[in-house]
Amino acid sequence: MRFHIHTYGCQMNVRDSEAVEALLVAAGHEKACGEADADLVVVNSCTVRQKAEEKAVGKAGNLIAAGKVVGLMGCAVKRMGEDVFRRLPRLDFAVGPRAYGLIPRIVEEGRYPRLELGDDMVPECLAAHVESGWQAYVTVLLGCDNRCSYCIVPDVRGHEYSRPAREVVAEVSALAGRGVREVCLLGQSVLRYGVRNAAWDERDAPSPGGYAEAFPRLLEAVAAIPGIERIRFTSAHPGGCTDELVRAYREFPQVCRHLHLPVQSGSDRILAGMGRRYTRAEYLAAVAKLRAFDPEFSVTTDVIVGYPGETERDFEDTRSLMEEAGFDNAFVFKYSPRPGTRSAALPDDVPTAEKERRDQVLLADQEARGLRRNGELVGTVREVLAEGPSKRVAGRWSGRDSGNRIVVWDVGGKSYAPGEKVMVKVLEVHPQVLVGVPVA
Ligand code: SAM
Ligand code: SF4
Repeated sequence: MRFHIHTYGCQMNVRDSEAVEALLVAAGHEKACGEADADLVVVNSCTVRQKAEEKAVGKAGNLIAAGKVVGLMGCAVKRMGEDVFRRLPRLDFAVGPRAYGLIPRIVEEGRYPRLELGDDMVPECLAAHVESGWQAYVTVLLGCDNRCSYCIVPDVRGHEYSRPAREVVAEVSALAGRGVREVCLLGQSVLRYGVRNAAWDERDAPSPGGYAEAFPRLLEAVAAIPGIERIRFTSAHPGGCTDELVRAYREFPQVCRHLHLPVQSGSDRILAGMGRRYTRAEYLAAVAKLRAFDPEFSVTTDVIVGYPGETERDFEDTRSLMEEAGFDNAFVFKYSPRPGTRSAALPDDVPTAEKERRDQVLLADQEARGLRRNGELVGTVREVLAEGPSKRVAGRWSGRDSGNRIVVWDVGGKSYAPGEKVMVKVLEVHPQVLVGVPVA
């Protein structure tokens, strides 16, 4: 069949879709140029906010109406269970976020409708990749055991499972052999790698640097793989910002100077209600620790506005925390109650218009802060890995520095290859972009 995959949601979904693509190609199917050209379309869904779920379900509905064979995968399937066929009566198959490995067999058998939820299943095909480019996502931790009050992820992605370190190292080594130079290690709360189940065992050689914690030790092992120039990982929880993690940042230049550290709120009262297991002061201490070793260290975050009971004062605490933390970038989300989560039992009492206002205020603050933080980098030279031509301005290329900042430069007739290292001197800045010129 000619197939197309349409992906909503986080990097983990992007990675899962890539694995499905690799599996379908291995099973003899062919990637279509786009959805119109495909016989089979798989929609990978997100359910973290209600709107995200509606988008994926709406998309699948349109594709069914267009006469395609349609499969829905991902988080929304697990949330809806059998209801998925009430919402989409002519859907062919639906698989949960840990059951995507079954898709080739389901398509092969063609006995529709089919529902496979997968629960805590560990896909056998976690290392399946398509032959593409110099960057790759690598899943190291499945599921989440944190149970933050508002979050549906633990219900849909199941319990935490850390892949054996040996498997991760083998996967990254294979990717490096195919030309991958940058990997991003994925987990919902990735610093909990090796906490619920052991990731390292006695058959593994001892850590050369004496690392005792599972995740820093994984960074050490991945940094030792020839050809891997950059290592990123996401998402993090301040509880995992240990001295060993900072030591790994310091000792391995491959580990990028960036951490996505979702804070969610700056109010201790709201943080306690959310069950985040840190206070404002503890969060800020984690940021200070990272910036103490490198003042240019980039910290980005996620924030929720309009959590049940969030007062103007709580909101102002979030504003001031964001200023104190000096975030380099921030994603702001309007609270959306999710069925079955603890906070769904609380009144969703911040009006939509007020959530919108708080969202806009934080975004405006972040624009100003981004401009100021980036302004401190004018005149510095960034080591950039080139990604491709800029989508906004013709004649420019774009890439990222170690801090995950977008850097653009005028090509001036020169040609670049994706993944090529370019040293760029910063001349001008925007809230989320550095503009410069290549230097020797
Ligand atoms: N596991 C990651 C973490 O905790 O760091 C993030 C998981 S979630 C896919 C991404 C972001 O969505 C969260 O950091 C949070 O800000 C936001 N989010 C999660 N549940 C939400 C909800 N019910 N309403 C609004 N935003 C939500
Ligand atoms: Fe959700 Fe919290 Fe787990 Fe992140 S850490 S996925 S916000 S429960």
